[in-house]
Amino acid sequence: MIEMDGIVAKMKNQKINYDRVLKKMIQQWERTDERPKIMLHSCCAPCSTYVLEFLSQYADLAIYFANPNIHPKKEYERRAWVQKDFIEKFNQENGTNVRYIEAPYKPHEFMKMAKERGLMEEPEGGLRCRACFEMRLDMVAEAAVEHGYDYFGSALTLSPKKNAQLINELGAEVQKLYDVNYLPSDFKKNKGYERSLEMCRDYNIYRQCYCGCVFAAQAQGIDFKEVNQAAKAFLDTVETK
Ligand code: SF4
Ligand code: SF4
Repeated sequence: MIEMDGIVAKMKNQKINYDRVLKKMIQQWERTDERPKIMLHSCCAPCSTYVLEFLSQYADLAIYFANPNIHPKKEYERRAWVQKDFIEKFNQENGTNVRYIEAPYKPHEFMKMAKERGLMEEPEGGLRCRACFEMRLDMVAEAAVEHGYDYFGSALTLSPKKNAQLINELGAEVQKLYDVNYLPSDFKKNKGYERSLEMCRDYNIYRQCYCGCVFAAQAQGIDFKEVNQAAKAFLDTVETK
């Protein structure tokens, strides 16, 4: 399999263009007639939309839904349901076979990590988010090894609110711990984010109003009673269909 390190080493500029690195890797797959297996972490459907559309041209994909950070449980269940439903519809429409794999929901592990490392008061985008990305990249790398994938990566680089440079740096670090390659990306490039908005409209995808954890949601003034009620009503509707 092609690794990112050789390509990155040739890039002399300080700030690595991870979109360019991915494109070079894709060119090499095409030259060598490879169709790799890639497992991507995602935390709800919106970021996965364009990512699946783009990468399914070149690779066999799985979305790994591993999100102990999401609070409360009903909201977690809603996001998981929407992610799975989107993949099923995407496969039907495109003749693809993207897999959906879900990790057991263990929110106490995220809370424990945030408390032990004193990250509860961190602002969104700060050290808690760094640890949160790292935790979930670690989970997807482990699952990619377990399920026999060639690469692990993250759909989150599609979001303009997420630090793609940081996610890629952490991915490269996590890669060192596992026998699987990291897939660099900056999916928001090439109008990826704009395309994801169109796809969310076309597939009628639920877009959440807060990132996921209790800490950032509280800082944002999210009313959990409302979130719970809306998630429960949504799940009641889809589950009785
Ligand atoms: S970064 Fe935000 S929009 Fe993207 S998958 Fe995660 S929660 Fe959803
Ligand atoms: S704001 Fe989002 S990325 Fe940051 S710690 Fe909370 S759930 Fe994780």
